[in-house]
Amino acid sequence: MDLGLKDKVVIVTGGAKGIGEAISKLVAAEGGIAVIAGRNAEDNEKTVQAIKSAGGKAFGIQAELGEVADCRKVIDTTIKQFGTIHALINNAGVNDGVGLESGSPEKFMASLQKNLSHYYNLVHYALPELKKNKGSVVNIGSKVATTGQGNTSGYAASKGAINALTREWAVELLPYSIRVNTVIPAEVWTPLYETWINSLPNPKEKLASIVSKIPLEQRMTTSEEIASMTVFLISAHSSHTTGQIVYVDGGYTHLDRSIS
Ligand code: NAP
Repeated sequence: MDLGLKDKVVIVTGGAKGIGEAISKLVAAEGGIAVIAGRNAEDNEKTVQAIKSAGGKAFGIQAELGEVADCRKVIDTTIKQFGTIHALINNAGVNDGVGLESGSPEKFMASLQKNLSHYYNLVHYALPELKKNKGSVVNIGSKVATTGQGNTSGYAASKGAINALTREWAVELLPYSIRVNTVIPAEVWTPLYETWINSLPNPKEKLASIVSKIPLEQRMTTSEEIASMTVFLISAHSSHTTGQIVYVDGGYTHLDRSIS
């Protein structure tokens, strides 16, 4: 299937590692230009080079997305470099363990800044270009918004808000034919996941216990499986899909617990 992404300019936040890296690579493999916005210039460059070596097009922009000025810079630099923006994939986030007891009002607000504000800021600044192109937005959320996790209030609040904003933006942007959808991962092995599982008391046992409860094939979802759904959702093949929250999680969030 040709997804029709040839030369489409697609911003992927956190596009150098983990799920974002898989999305950037798939955008480029489909002929699009992957604009990778992330805080570490070296990480960005590594993924840009990997994509270029495979014959694809990519460009890195160093940005600490918690900073409003850096969000503006991502949009302005992309327009300067490529003339427009066809799609925005809001992916960067961190499960930063700001709990009710372990956190503080200041840490809670800082977590929203890291996980939520840039999703809004980037769509806000990209809007004039997205309007010209009947563009598309995909947010990467988390099952934590549905299930809770404990000790991660800032992250859970951010991901819950992202689900709400998916519906809100889908409605507000109907007049421009801009589609907005969210993809929800649950358990995907990435650098973030590795850090999180290793922060728990018995990481090996905990991992085995989680994996045994994933209904479909008792395995983790791959970053590539998240990328496939995400890239499909920015493509013209999903041209009448908007305001949807799609769980790519092997049934982990919703299926009957008694089956595993
Ligand atoms: P990851 O392995 O940490 O990769 C994320 C990338 O984004 C890293 O390069 C990171 O830079 C960068 N980044 C994060 N916050 C940033 C910021 N504020 N400004 C600039 N760059 C930033 O994470 P991942 O596991 O692929 O997660 C991607 C998304 O999926 C997140 O929104 C996460 O909440 C969601 N998710 C993941 C899972 C899972 O199982 N992995 C489950 C549910 C939801 P550094 O490396 O420098 O931090």
